[in-house]
Amino acid sequence: MRPGARVRLDRCDPDDTSAVHGSKRRAEGECDRLAGRLKHLQELLYADHRRSILIVLTAIDAGGKDGTIQHVFEGVNPQGVSVAHFRVPTADEAAHDFLWRIHPHTPGKGEIAIFNRSHYEDVFVPRVERLVPRHVWHHRYRMINEFERTLVLEGTTVLKFFLHISEDEQKARLRERLNDPTKHWKFSAADVPTRRLWPEYQAAFEEMLPRTSTRWAPWYLVPANKKWFRDWVVSTVLVETLEAMDLRWPPLPAAWKGVEIR
Ligand code: ATP
Ligand code: MG
Repeated sequence: MRPGARVRLDRCDPDDTSAVHGSKRRAEGECDRLAGRLKHLQELLYADHRRSILIVLTAIDAGGKDGTIQHVFEGVNPQGVSVAHFRVPTADEAAHDFLWRIHPHTPGKGEIAIFNRSHYEDVFVPRVERLVPRHVWHHRYRMINEFERTLVLEGTTVLKFFLHISEDEQKARLRERLNDPTKHWKFSAADVPTRRLWPEYQAAFEEMLPRTSTRWAPWYLVPANKKWFRDWVVSTVLVETLEAMDLRWPPLPAAWKGVEIR
């Protein structure tokens, strides 16, 4: 998303797969190739130890954050990759500023950190659930932009993906959680009341996306009804980002040249 560009989510087709010419087989083949590249590049990022990547995943309930993490990072060495899942703030977290619990989970040099939900919850949930006055969450757009700018200036590339699904797709996925015994555990009592707030959440997303799509950390708006397409988009952006980083294997220090191992 271009910085500041307005978006109407009801005009963005969550089934759109045209970027990969609509072919699932082609996307899946491409994902296998990307997984191989990602495995190599992640090791290189770790060894190079100069840069880092923060991946922020945002979506409505059942939007596919967990599935994206599972599929895109399949086969990657878990050393050097972390996942932080941000849930309802604890009493201690709620007693601090909203970024207090976020910052310790940002990636160190050489690392990739994945945020399953993030600081962005703090502009939607309090707004939609009317937990605090408008000015409290509204100031947070600026604070988020400045926080991300700090990370970027210090060597972290911030990749933000908004997974866009339709209301019908959410219904199908929530029903599956109730019907499939292997998915019961994913169902949360909050899913039902939150689903009733669908329009309010969409409005909150439509305001957040242009306000926080910046030159240094733009959003990728991902049509996400089709899981294979969503995974292909995220893998492609991630691999292209790593390829462009000019990562290098660190050379042997001069003092170690000619050292013999006996
Ligand atoms: P899934 O999308 O698969 O259901 P999940 O991320 O919703 O997974 P849960 O444990 O079901 O995981 O829910 C986490 C809950 O925490 C969400 O309802 C989310 O809105 C809430 N949450 C996260 N951050 C905040 C925040 N800063 N303020 C209030 N609620 C938050
Ligand atoms: Mg949930």
